[in-house]
Amino acid sequence: MKEFDISFPINHVPSKEEIEASAARALGVKRDKVADVQILRRSLDARGEILYRYRIGAAAQGDDPLDRYVLPEYKYVASAEPVIVVGGGPAGMFASLRLLMEGRKPIVLERGKNVHERKVDIANLSQRGIVNPESNYCFGEGGAGTFSDGKLFTRSNKRGDIREVLHQLVNFGADRTILTDAHPHIGSDRLPGIVENIRNCILEHGGEYHFSEKLIDLIRIEDGRSVQWKAVCEGGATYTAKSVILATGHSAWDIYELFARKGWPLEAKGFALGVRAEHPQSLVNRIQYHGKYQPWMPAAEYSLVEQVDGRGVFSFCMCPGGILVPSATSDGHVVLNGMSNSQRNSQWANAGIVCSVEPGDIPGYERYGVFSLLEFQSDVERRMFDFSSSLKAPAQRMQDFCRKRLSANLPKSSYHPGTVSAPLNELLPEFVYGRLRAAFPAFDRKMKGFYTNDALLLATESRTSSPVRIVRDSETMSAVGLPGLYPCGEGAGYSGGIVSSAVDGILVATAATL
Ligand SMILES: Cc1cc2nc3c(=O)[nH]c(=O)nc-3n(C[C@H](O)[C@H](O)[C@H](O)COP(=O)(O)OP(=O)(O)OC[C@H]3O[C@@H](n4cnc5c(N)ncnc54)[C@H](O)[C@@H]3O)c2cc1C
Repeated sequence: MKEFDISFPINHVPSKEEIEASAARALGVKRDKVADVQILRRSLDARGEILYRYRIGAAAQGDDPLDRYVLPEYKYVASAEPVIVVGGGPAGMFASLRLLMEGRKPIVLERGKNVHERKVDIANLSQRGIVNPESNYCFGEGGAGTFSDGKLFTRSNKRGDIREVLHQLVNFGADRTILTDAHPHIGSDRLPGIVENIRNCILEHGGEYHFSEKLIDLIRIEDGRSVQWKAVCEGGATYTAKSVILATGHSAWDIYELFARKGWPLEAKGFALGVRAEHPQSLVNRIQYHGKYQPWMPAAEYSLVEQVDGRGVFSFCMCPGGILVPSATSDGHVVLNGMSNSQRNSQWANAGIVCSVEPGDIPGYERYGVFSLLEFQSDVERRMFDFSSSLKAPAQRMQDFCRKRLSANLPKSSYHPGTVSAPLNELLPEFVYGRLRAAFPAFDRKMKGFYTNDALLLATESRTSSPVRIVRDSETMSAVGLPGLYPCGEGAGYSGGIVSSAVDGILVATAATL
C-alpha cells in the first residue's frame, strides 16, 4: 500500500482511469498490476492555481489490500435489555445506533418534536419571534445539529472512530464525498431526511422513540444486588432500565439544575463567547480565492485565530453561503448561530468570533459556584434582549465597533428577526470587547479585507459549548458515584460539534454495554 498526492484543476473530476494511471506511476508498476486504488482525502488548495489535492491510497498485486471500513450490522433488539437514551441529538442518535450494533434496545426520550413538526416551530421563531421552549433550533429531533451547516470536521483529536460516524451518515443519505472531503458538510436541506432515516432504522430494529417526552427526574432504585434507573417525564410517564445515557445538549439548563438539587457531580467549564460576524460572501470569495473566484466554485471558508493577552480569539462554526438564525431556547435571550443549505449559496458568510472565558475572567460570579459561567452566559444574552426588547440582534459595523462608534446605519443582514444599531462595544463584557477589538485588525493581516465596515457584528454568539460539565469517571464513563448513569455529548461537557458529539455517543454506548 502506498499513499501519494495528485492535483487536478478544481473543475476537473478525475476519471477512474486517470487515478489508476497515477497509482501505477506512484507504485512503479504497469497499469494492469494495480490491484486497488482509493481516494482517501480531497482538499481545496487556493494558494496558487486553484486545485483539488487528492490523497490516494494504492496497492499493487501482491501487496496487502487497502483498508476498507465496513459498518457493523444493526441487530434486532425488540426484546433485548433496554438502555434509556435521553436526547435525540447527534450524541443520542449515534449512541442509539451503537446500542443496536451491540444488541441492546435504545429507548429514546426526546423533549422536542419530530423533525417535520419542528420545522413549523422554527419558522415561527424566525418569522414571528415566538420561542417554543421545547422545540427550537436546539431542541427537537436531531438536536442542535439538524438545522445547521452540518459541518462535519472537528478540532478535537479525542479517541473514537470518526469513520463510524461518517459512514453511517452516508448509509442514511449523506453524499459519499463527506468520506473524503477535508472539510465535509451536509447542509440543512439534507439533514432532516438523514435524521428521519436514523429514527426509522432504530424503530425498524425494535428500538423506541418518544417525542415530547421531557425528562424531569432520575431516580435510582436499589434492590439487593441490582441497581436500576427510573426516568420520570413531565407528563408522568416513567421508563426503567439499568443504564441511562443522558445526551441533553448544552442548553438543557434544567438538567444541570436537577443534578445540583440532587448533589450530583458538576463543575464549571470554560467556554467561548463573542459575536457573529457577517460579511458579503462575494468579499470572502475574493479574498480567499485571490480574485480568481468563479460562480461554480464552492463558497470560500475561513478559519482565523489570534492570541490576545495570552488568550485565543478565534472564528467558530463558519458558515459560507449561510444565514444567521435565532437559537435561544427561552424567552428573554438573544442568541445567534449560523446555518446553510448544501449548496451554500446565500449572499452572506458568517462565523462566530469568540474568545475563551474561564472562571477567573468573571469576578462577581463566584457566588454562583458551578453555575458561574452559565450565569455569565445567560446575563450577556439577556443584556442583548433587553437592549432590543425582542429577538432583533444588537449589531454594529466592524470598524465602528473597534472605534467605539455607533453605526449610523446597518448593512442588510440574513438574520430574519432583524437587527438594531447598538454600542456592542459597551454591551459586551469589557474583557470580551477588548480581545475582539484587538483581534479584528489582526485578522486582516491574515485575510486582507476582512476588517471592513461592510462586515456586521451581531450579538450574542454564546452557545459555543457547555459552560458546565457533568463529571464522569474516566474509566467507566458513568457520572462519578452514579454507576449506570452516563452523561454524554456536548451537554455533559465532553464534546463540541456534531462529529465529536456523535463520537462521544458511540464511546458512551459502548461503555454502557460492557
Ligand atoms: C444553528 C446551529 C448550527 C450549528 N452548526 C454546526 C455545524 O455546522 N457543525 C457542527 O459540528 N456543529 C454545529 N452546531 C453545534 C452542534 O449542533 C452541536 O454541537 C451538537 O448538536 C451537540 O450534540 P448533542 O447530541 O450533544 O446535543 P444536542 O444536539 O444539543 O441534542 C440534545 C437533545 O436533547 C434533547 N433534550 C434536552 N433536554 C431534554 C430533556 N430534559 N428530556 C428529553 N430530551 C431533552 C434536546 O431536545 C436535543 O434534541 C450547530 C448548532 C446550532 C444551534
